[in-house]
Amino acid sequence: MRILRAAQVLTGRPGEVIPYGEVAVDGDMIAFAGPRGGAGEPGDADEVVDLPGCTLLPGLIDAHVHLGFDDKVDPVTRQSPESDRHLLLRMAENARKLVSAGVTTARDLGARGFLDLALRDAIEEGLAVGPHLIAATRPITPTGGHCWYMGGEADDLPAIRRVARENLRAGADCLKIMASGGQMTPSAAPSWVQQYSTEEIRAVVEEAGARGKGVAAHAHAHAAIRSAVEAGVATIEHCSFFTPSGHRYDPELADVVAESGTYVCPTLHGVYWRLRDTLGPEMLDDWLHGIVALRDAGVRLIAGTDSGFAAAGVGNRTDGYVAGLEVFAGAGFGNAEVIELATARAADACGVGAVTGTVETGKRADLIAVRGDPLRRISDLRELVLVLVAGRAVTQTGVDTVTSSL
Ligand SMILES: [Zn+2]
Repeated sequence: MRILRAAQVLTGRPGEVIPYGEVAVDGDMIAFAGPRGGAGEPGDADEVVDLPGCTLLPGLIDAHVHLGFDDKVDPVTRQSPESDRHLLLRMAENARKLVSAGVTTARDLGARGFLDLALRDAIEEGLAVGPHLIAATRPITPTGGHCWYMGGEADDLPAIRRVARENLRAGADCLKIMASGGQMTPSAAPSWVQQYSTEEIRAVVEEAGARGKGVAAHAHAHAAIRSAVEAGVATIEHCSFFTPSGHRYDPELADVVAESGTYVCPTLHGVYWRLRDTLGPEMLDDWLHGIVALRDAGVRLIAGTDSGFAAAGVGNRTDGYVAGLEVFAGAGFGNAEVIELATARAADACGVGAVTGTVETGKRADLIAVRGDPLRRISDLRELVLVLVAGRAVTQTGVDTVTSSL
């Protein structure tokens, strides 16, 4: 057993701070979290790690990544020149970078060839370094629809159920459906067009639910957001209220989302400011104002970066996670709330809240320690001194490679 002592322990729930707390880690589990001295006599521990001036808190959760998002897809031939073998190695490198930023759980919402499952299992076996992965495998999308090249095309109810079941048979932890179009697939409907009806989305919810799993719905369009709520998905991704003339926040629809309790991952990321410089302030400001309005309407937001994508030539780095939290804070979210939506609430939304996301006795030892106090300064989350994934120390900051940073 190891005892970690810090200037304070944040449990992940808002307002829960244990001053001069300590956490005992026994194997891959948290054996104790509470005031100093509660974990037993230091002499009984194998090791006592003192972290003066540091904050211990739950490992961060990125609810929306694409470790295998292939930015090399040729929009003309629609073929990727990258082999699955090569892509899997790149995904492993992206996973290493992600955990090096303090992310100990990540939900991968779209990968081809079931490579996310291979990587997930390799990480759990200790063959690769990375966060715990919650893998959606192939996103369900119409033929030629948003991200069709990941292999999850389905145009009617029987086909939708078949792809859902094939994903689950392969070992998917959750399912992803592209309820609206998107920007980055040339043959796909644009973001403001609904791709699937409520009934079709509900079929995916049923298939996942029968196996105790949840559904993430990619939805930019108003109608797609509404259908996703009606169908009972666990999380809505983006929820950007996109129209042909930009983001048009709808307070009535936001109330529908809030009342349903559906979580929203707005995929607010750390390249917000660079994109704003590139695309102009109007669209990006409308988007951010919409996210703040969703929070004010009572919608349960969670952190997720959509890392792996590149928009307008701006790459969204896998290890840029904390920069996304800084955008939340800059938009007026309180630091305690930002930490909650990046830990406990994100775990609940991703269906792993019983296992991880908070620092408490009996949870998995997914922990980080940072120098400073992120309740006062959210950027202190950059000052990592320790990252534990199921009790294993994995901090590798400072290791650089020549591969793509996406
Ligand atoms: Zn995505």
